[in-house]
Amino acid sequence: MVNLAGMEASAGSNTGELGVYLHVPFCRGKCDYCAFPSRPIAGRDELDRYLEALAAEIDAARALLSRARLHSVYFGGGTPSLVPPSEIASLLGSLRQAAAEFPGEAEVTLEANPESVGLKSLEALRRAGVNRLSLGVQSFEDGALRSLGRPHDAASAERAIVAARRAGFHNLSLDLIVALEDPWTDSFEDDLGRAVALAPEHLSVYLLSVDAPSVLARATAAGTRALPCDERRSDIFERCSAVLRAAGYEHYEVSSFARPGWRAVHNCGYWEGRAYLGLGAAAHSFLPEPGGVVRRFNIADPDEYVARVGQALSPVESAEHLSPAVHLRERLMLTLRRSDGVVPADYGEAAEALATKLERGVARGLFVRSRESGRARYRPTAKGFLLADGIALDLWDLIPDSPSNRAP
Ligand code: SF4
Repeated sequence: MVNLAGMEASAGSNTGELGVYLHVPFCRGKCDYCAFPSRPIAGRDELDRYLEALAAEIDAARALLSRARLHSVYFGGGTPSLVPPSEIASLLGSLRQAAAEFPGEAEVTLEANPESVGLKSLEALRRAGVNRLSLGVQSFEDGALRSLGRPHDAASAERAIVAARRAGFHNLSLDLIVALEDPWTDSFEDDLGRAVALAPEHLSVYLLSVDAPSVLARATAAGTRALPCDERRSDIFERCSAVLRAAGYEHYEVSSFARPGWRAVHNCGYWEGRAYLGLGAAAHSFLPEPGGVVRRFNIADPDEYVARVGQALSPVESAEHLSPAVHLRERLMLTLRRSDGVVPADYGEAAEALATKLERGVARGLFVRSRESGRARYRPTAKGFLLADGIALDLWDLIPDSPSNRAP
């Protein structure tokens, strides 16, 4: 195994702009649909050991961080709002000390669950330097929340939103899940209305999906639960897009809606192919290296993560070195998920074939073509967003393995 300091040598010599993701793999319980790397927390001791390891990983990444200007920090999970605000302050302090630059305007997001925050903890998080809260509301209907196995009710979600505003959060994002099982399939219209009335700067709207391993995956396999059919799911997705756009939100990524000027900086970094460092169990990183980029995956099991870091061993379990062509294909795949759209001229020798395919997409109502500075740009429609992954597969082979094909 490689020691922590040794891994840093592979991270390239000139990182520049960087986003940092910190994973908190603990929750109060496990929601029915959840296949994320998280597990119910055993107690405070377990959390303390994990936070100690996270601090040690930050320390071991000093060489990389000392060359980086942090544009965003993101505490994701799991339920990061289970971490005491004083510990969040301490982790942010370590990043501030280690980074070449951590400007005051950098976006610092923390994912929170409504039942695990109150006015006092939210005020403490604001003082700690968190300036964006991403609240897992999912629905404003108690029955729907129970069907998802969520640990909170609608009233606690509304209380958390009011408390977040009082605590000084001017950048608030709400997560909603739509296309639920009957009898909650149509409740999304009410959920959107209630969310819009609360005026968050940002909304992430996800179609409920069956991902294993989860309670929902087992139940659907056994035939005891069923999600709406694909056609109904498409209708719901397109309706969500129309309602939120009419309410002044920009549909700027498949699942993401923002008031003008409030796109998620950290997530945009992923979609724009910018470098990020992932810290914690199951976190991954995307970093420049001489001649290309490398994607690194930390070990997923929190106990093994703590054990490795405790012995000064790297928590990185595997790494994938991306060839320039694969990097460019991935860039195309991510671009298809964004409203900024695809400019075929950015794709070198694949430009002409790509434009031909995208024109067919225009005819099918998947893209809208515009001309900007003499170059064609294809922006996905709501239907195009919905089919983004399939479209990406169809376009994947248009970019040949050639050294001249590389991401800009
Ligand atoms: S709160 Fe989120 S991460 Fe935790 S169990 Fe529920 S869905 Fe999974």
